[in-house]
Order: sequence, then C-alpha cells, then structure tokens
Amino acid sequence: MKDIFNLDGKTAIVTGASSGLGKHFAKTLSAAGANLVICARRMQNLEKLKDEIDGEVLVLPLDVTSEESVLNFFSKVESSIGSADILVNNAGTSDPKRFKDLDEESWNYVLETNLSGAYRVAKNFTDLLIKDNKGGSIINIASILGLRVGINLASYATAKAGLVQLTKSMALELARSNIRVNAIAPGYILTEINDDFFATTDGQNYIKNIPMNRLGLESDLDGVLLLLSSEASSFMTGSIIPVDGGHLINPL
Ligand code: NAD
Repeated sequence: MKDIFNLDGKTAIVTGASSGLGKHFAKTLSAAGANLVICARRMQNLEKLKDEIDGEVLVLPLDVTSEESVLNFFSKVESSIGSADILVNNAGTSDPKRFKDLDEESWNYVLETNLSGAYRVAKNFTDLLIKDNKGGSIINIASILGLRVGINLASYATAKAGLVQLTKSMALELARSNIRVNAIAPGYILTEINDDFFATTDGQNYIKNIPMNRLGLESDLDGVLLLLSSEASSFMTGSIIPVDGGHLINPL
C-alpha cells in the first residue's frame, strides 16, 4: 500500500511556529516530506527552527491580529512559491481571568488572535487556492475548551468555540472547491508554557480529571496532524477531532 500520509511535494504554512505546538507541527510535517512556510512575530525563534529542519523552509513574519501583516505575508508567499497546499492555523493565546475581572482589552486580544486571526489567515489562504484553481487542507487548532468550558477561560473558550463553527462553515462552503477544513481540539498538552503548573500539587491533582491520567505530549498530535494534512483524510471535512486522553468524556 502506498504511504497515504506522505507529504512529498506539498507545502505547508504553520502559523505561530515560533514555540510550542506550532514548532512541533512544523517538524512533523517536514519529516513527512512537506516544504514549509513558518511564520510568527518572533523571527529569531523561527530562524533557529529553520536551522533545526533539513527540508525546504521559508521564514516570514506574521502578526495574525493585523490585516496589513496578513496581506503582506500572503503577498510574499505568492511571489515566492505561489500557493501552498496545507495551512495549520495554530497561532493562539489566552489571558485567563474570572469573568467579573474581564475587560475590553483582554477580551479583544484573545478573540482577535484566536478567532479573527485564524479567520484572516484562512480567508487569504483560501483566496490564493481559489485563484490557482487548486484544492488544499486547512487544519484549525481549536481546543477542548471550544467544546466545553472551564474556570477563568470565558474569552478563550468563546474564541475556540467560534473557531469550531468557522471550521464547519468553511468546510460546508469550500467542499466543492476541494478545500477541506477540519480542526484538532487538543486537551492539555505538556509544553514549556505549562510544565511549571503541572509540576505543582494543584497541577498533579488536575491531571486526575483526565481519564487516561496523564497530560498529552506534543507527539500525541502527530497522527491526527498527518491524517488531516494528507490524502489519508481525502473524504474528511468539517470534522472536529479531540485529542485529549478522554478529558471531554470525564464523568459528570
Ligand atoms: P504557545 O504560546 O507556545 O504557541 C502559540 C504560538 O502562537 C506562539 O508561537 C505565539 O508566538 C503565536 N502567536 C500568538 N499571537 C500571535 C500573533 N498575533 N501573530 C502570530 N503568531 C502569534 O502555545 P501552544 O500551547 O503551543 O499553543 C498553540 C495552539 O494550540 C494555540 O492555538 C492554543 O490555543 C492551542 N492549544 C494548546 C493546548 C495546550 O495544552 N498546549 C491545548 C489546546 C489548544
């Protein structure tokens, strides 16, 4: 059987590739054969990542909250490589606060990055594909918090729930253009950002809510990432796939 997960000859854009999951996604896609466009605001981190990857890598600055930055980014993509084939819409942020302590600035920052930013990048990516009469795959990085709620995370959960609906709406409207749109909804994945918290007693107690009784590892997302990026998912669109050790089904 041919390798249906192979990405030779494909080009993938990964947003927010300067740290955490985005950095790992870039390495995974490259290992499967894809050429990369890695983008974020911290260019130094991206250049360092480029040095760690053997395949073709184009490094470009991108701030998903700025329409001007997104337009510049796609104009450079177009002049360098034309259109890409895969978009991993990964850039995201959170600003945990009690609902009573939320303010306009915090709310807008989280919604603007996670939802409007993802829309802006996906829209420009899609425009290029349609212009080139080409299919493609968009993978939005949502969260289990787009499907359930948690304390201190109203803005984040709302933004990710919006991203889930955006995924389904785009999938519906773009299916006839052969552009597939799916989302990964990770549970808690151990990264450098949260490892301090999960080493504490509170953190360790929290992990007991996860049926598999552990945090996810970055590598736990490899299978679903390659599935959605490749021909292996050629009949999948509008799917929201949790990867969470059963966290969403913990008992009431
Ligand atoms: P992270 O903070 O390491 O990564 C977020 C990336 O997005 C960073 O590279 C950051 O620079 C980039 N980014 C933020 N704002 C940006 C902007 N305006 N323009 C361009 N890039 C920007 O955290 P992470 O855990 O790697 O998160 C990656 C994605 O996965 C996010 O969308 C996050 O919501 C989602 N997620 C993470 C977890 C987890 O447990 N780590 C769980 C569910 C979902």
